[in-house]
Amino acid sequence: MLAQRLIDALGADAVKMQPEDLAVYSFDAYTDGSAPSAVVLPASTNDVSAVVKIARECGEPIVPRGAGTGLCGGAVPIEGGIVISFARMNRILELDAARRRARVQPGVVNLGVSTAAAPFGLFYAPDPSSQKTSTIGGNVATNAGGPHCLSYGTTVNHVLGLEVVDEHGEVFKTSIDRPGYDLTAALVGSEGTLGIVTSAWIRLMKAPEAVRVWLATFPDVESASDAVSSIIAAGIVPTALEMMDAVMARAVEAAFHAGYPTDAGAVLLVEHAGFEDDMDAYEREIERIAKEHGATTWRAARSQAERDALWAGRKGAAGAMGRISPNYYLQDVCVRRSTLPKALHAVEEIAREYKLTVANVFHAGDGNLHPMLCYDKSNPKEVQAVVESGNAILETAIALGGTISGEHGIGYEKRDGMTRVYSTNDLATMARVRDVFDPQRRLNPEKLFPTGAQCAEVKPIV
Ligand SMILES: Cc1cc2nc3c(=O)[nH]c(=O)nc-3n(C[C@H](O)[C@H](O)[C@H](O)COP(=O)(O)OP(=O)(O)OC[C@H]3O[C@@H](n4cnc5c(N)ncnc54)[C@H](O)[C@@H]3O)c2cc1C
Repeated sequence: MLAQRLIDALGADAVKMQPEDLAVYSFDAYTDGSAPSAVVLPASTNDVSAVVKIARECGEPIVPRGAGTGLCGGAVPIEGGIVISFARMNRILELDAARRRARVQPGVVNLGVSTAAAPFGLFYAPDPSSQKTSTIGGNVATNAGGPHCLSYGTTVNHVLGLEVVDEHGEVFKTSIDRPGYDLTAALVGSEGTLGIVTSAWIRLMKAPEAVRVWLATFPDVESASDAVSSIIAAGIVPTALEMMDAVMARAVEAAFHAGYPTDAGAVLLVEHAGFEDDMDAYEREIERIAKEHGATTWRAARSQAERDALWAGRKGAAGAMGRISPNYYLQDVCVRRSTLPKALHAVEEIAREYKLTVANVFHAGDGNLHPMLCYDKSNPKEVQAVVESGNAILETAIALGGTISGEHGIGYEKRDGMTRVYSTNDLATMARVRDVFDPQRRLNPEKLFPTGAQCAEVKPIV
């Protein structure tokens, strides 16, 4: 019945029901969930509306899916349902260079926007390290960040309007240009629980006149973190301030041969963009602060090729982990910049206690830590150690006044952690917003909100 109705609406080619097809959609970059009842690949907003109407009539939940690079189980079905994959809605519908904006379908890959905008001297600023694969729909739903979000802001600062299919299958539009409630901001970061994004107007930015990239090495992550805090405290906001510890720098260098030093305790990648005439002064000041905090070397990338190589190494860091471990678990927490040294020290202690190797690569300027805990999935003891140490890192961040996710979102993984950073009233208010958009809780259920057992007030209103 479900299968036939979906095939009648979208065509047989756009509906996947075979167990081997469904299995492919039962996990994302974080974890396995359950297999969906069906996977559909709509080609238009009308297709999405039709699917949502059928799902409603058949009582099936809906799980939107971009590229499946999410790191918290957000695109994974937990209790079956229909997965809507946006792999075929992957066109840039309009690129308005004069007004510096583009309208894109949700399945457009992030980097594809900047590639298309480059001939006009424009780019799309939010640049998650997954940008060669992750989609604008997934980025909007998770409010994705990235190395350059330190100065440009996260996805929410770059979405101008959305086209959304609601839980009835009806289409509505939002725009930040119009008065009234800012529904665009409410939908960004809502992880598919308020509506399904079928197109987005996004902001394009003018490419800067000059870009410089520098590499500083430090004896340890603590001194590098102090330098990061001092650079920002001096009133300089570089376009990116990224840090790697020694374990990570060695893995990245072995994989990319980008020129990362392998003998330093920590490596700081600094990028600044602006007017050419200002760049030397910025370099002098940032170098001075870095050295004041113990930087042992300071190097400027001399060419575009050198800059690209350093960035390729940074953005490919997760891939380089395969060189040192069969599996890794990537934790995502955020603390105040000033508490970074304490947080990093605690991460090191936790890894030592659980006898795990940890590699750190992170958006230091934002205080957004990404410890990668190395383990072997086939060893149950190591799996247990990773789960416990991941939780211990989360607790550390909370104890330092930080939060449970810097950019990867909550999804299935961290939903119970929401009770640690929000009061019952805070969560109940969010739940009421959800009830306005999706009273039946069929849009990406089991995500974002804690399980009812821990927070009775956020159970659905029936
Ligand atoms: C190696 C690696 C590096 C990463 N680096 C970063 C980083 O620097 N910054 C960062 O923020 N994240 C990063 N991530 C995490 C991930 O790439 C982001 O969360 C990304 O935004 C997910 O996009 P996606 O297309 O893969 O979405 P998916 O994983 O498919 O989905 C993510 C969420 O979005 C929802 N969703 C997808 N499409 C829609 C839609 N059209 N409408 C409504 N909801 C939708 C899904 O239901 C799910 O809840 C990284 C991941 C990996 C594997």
